[in-house]
Amino acid sequence: MREAKQDIAEFELNELETELAALGVQPFHARQLYRWVHNRGLEHFEGMTDLSQSLRVQLNQTFKFSTPQISARRISNDGTEKFLFTLADGKTIESVFIPDTPAMTFCISTQAGCAMRCRFCLTGQMGLTRHLTAGEIAGQVRVLVRELGLQNRRFNLVLMGMGEPLHNYDATMKSLRMIAAPEGLAITPRRVTLSTVGILPGLKRLASERWVPNLAVSLHATTDKVRHALIPTSRNQRLADLIDACREFPIKHRERITFEYVLLAGVNDTTADANRLATLLQDLRAKVNLIPLNEASGIPFSRPSNQQVNRFAQLVASSGLVVSVRKSRGRDIRAACGQLIIKDDCSTQPLNN
Ligand code: SF4
Repeated sequence: MREAKQDIAEFELNELETELAALGVQPFHARQLYRWVHNRGLEHFEGMTDLSQSLRVQLNQTFKFSTPQISARRISNDGTEKFLFTLADGKTIESVFIPDTPAMTFCISTQAGCAMRCRFCLTGQMGLTRHLTAGEIAGQVRVLVRELGLQNRRFNLVLMGMGEPLHNYDATMKSLRMIAAPEGLAITPRRVTLSTVGILPGLKRLASERWVPNLAVSLHATTDKVRHALIPTSRNQRLADLIDACREFPIKHRERITFEYVLLAGVNDTTADANRLATLLQDLRAKVNLIPLNEASGIPFSRPSNQQVNRFAQLVASSGLVVSVRKSRGRDIRAACGQLIIKDDCSTQPLNN
C-alpha cells in the first residue's frame, strides 16, 4: 500500500536533504525547496521555477502541503489584526498581528486550546484540543508574512497565543529552528520571546538549547497559594523552585527575563504583593510586565482601577526593578492577552472584515 504523502513544511533543511537523497534527488535542491516553502510561503510545487519540471512532478507525487489557511481576519480600532486559521483537520487556532509595538509583532499559537487552565484566561477555559505540529506553528508565520507582504521587513515573534509552548516542547523548538534558518525567514533568537507558565523540566531543557529565545515567565502571584489557585497546573511546583530555575537560565548580555503579572483586583494587587514581588525578583536580571486584566464574561475576576495599577507599578519600581504596564491591544476584537478563544463571532466573519 502506498504511504500517505507527508507535509513538505514539516521538514527542517537537513531532514529535507535526507528525504530528497532517498528519492535519488541531489540534496542541494533542498535549499531551493526550503526557500520556496519557508521564505516565500509557496503552497504548490508548480511555482518553484528554479526546479526542473520533472522534479516538480516528482515532488508533487511524494509530498503535500498542509499549510494553515486563514479563514477569517478582523482588524481592531487600534490596528491590531486577529487571524483565525483553519488547520488541515478542521481544527482552528488564532494568531495576532500588532503593527506598532514599536516594531511589528506576531503573536502565534503553539496549541489548539490550552491545558494550563489559568483561571483568568479564556483560552484556558477551552481546554486543550491538540498540540500543533512544528509546520503548523511555523506555518502561521509563513502565511502572515506572505499575506502582509513582510518578507524583507524585520518583525518580532511572541509565543503568547493559544497554548503553553513548553507543553508542546519538541514541536515548538523545531518550529523556531525552521523560522530561524537562513533559507527560511532568518529570524534571530533576540527577536523571539517564548512565554511560559514555567514548566520546570521544560525550562531546564530550554536553558540547554543552542538556540535560546527571550524568556517571559507568567508569574501572576507572589505566594504559592494564590499561584496554585490562579494556575491550577502549577500545583506541583513551588514559586521558589521556579525563581531558582530562572536564576540559572542563560541570559544574554544586556537582556532580562520578563515576568508577566496579570493584575486582578483584590487578588494579587495589594501592597504586600508588590513588596513580595520586588523581593522575589531582587537578585534576578528581571523586568516586570504588569497586565491589568482584560475583563470578559466568564472570567471571575475584575480589573483593578488605573490608580491601583499605577500604585502597584510604582511600589515595584521603587525597588529598582524595571516595570512596564502592558497597553491592552485589540480588545474590541478579543485579540488581547488571555482573550483568544474560538467562538462563532470570529469564525463566521468573512475574510478582510
Ligand atoms: S494564560 Fe497562557 S498558559 Fe494560561 S491558559 Fe491561557 S494560554 Fe494557557
